[in-house]
Amino acid sequence: MINIKRQNRGRAKTRFGILLSGLAPRYQRILLKNPIIQSNSTDDRFIQCLFKIEDMRIKVSHLQRPFINPETREISTYSHIKESYKYLNWNCAYCKTDIKSKIDNFKVDNFSCKKCYNYYVKDANKVDKSVMDSMIKFTEHYKNLIRENQKTFIKYVQRNEKKNSIL
Ligand SMILES: [Zn+2]
Repeated sequence: MINIKRQNRGRAKTRFGILLSGLAPRYQRILLKNPIIQSNSTDDRFIQCLFKIEDMRIKVSHLQRPFINPETREISTYSHIKESYKYLNWNCAYCKTDIKSKIDNFKVDNFSCKKCYNYYVKDANKVDKSVMDSMIKFTEHYKNLIRENQKTFIKYVQRNEKKNSIL
């Protein structure tokens, strides 16, 4: 909950009688730039609602901001790249064809191509050993990748975040 303090007199800077010093700059900006708030300015819930809307707006634009995919170098939105990072190149457990597997999905169809899924998996009532092996290898592979990539990726993100914040 955002704490709204009121003060009518004194040297502290206020707007509509609300003390500015205790508020985040983005909240101060809302109060200062919107004279229309005046008529509802004594209503804490109203003010808090405006602040929350601003927080949501920032969150959305944060995810929609342009970002360079460190792997493919293509430009996309931050949320899209974060999502694409959940997929790894992998091979079908049966025919070894290239597939994309999702890191947090342990269903059989995540480890087989469509063709093999329809042929081997769909009507079978137990999970094949080759699929189990593939899952275990995949988990190991992912753990190793994380260990290797984590530091570089974090550095990369931080560097880009700095660049973006200047823009
Ligand atoms: Zn296959």
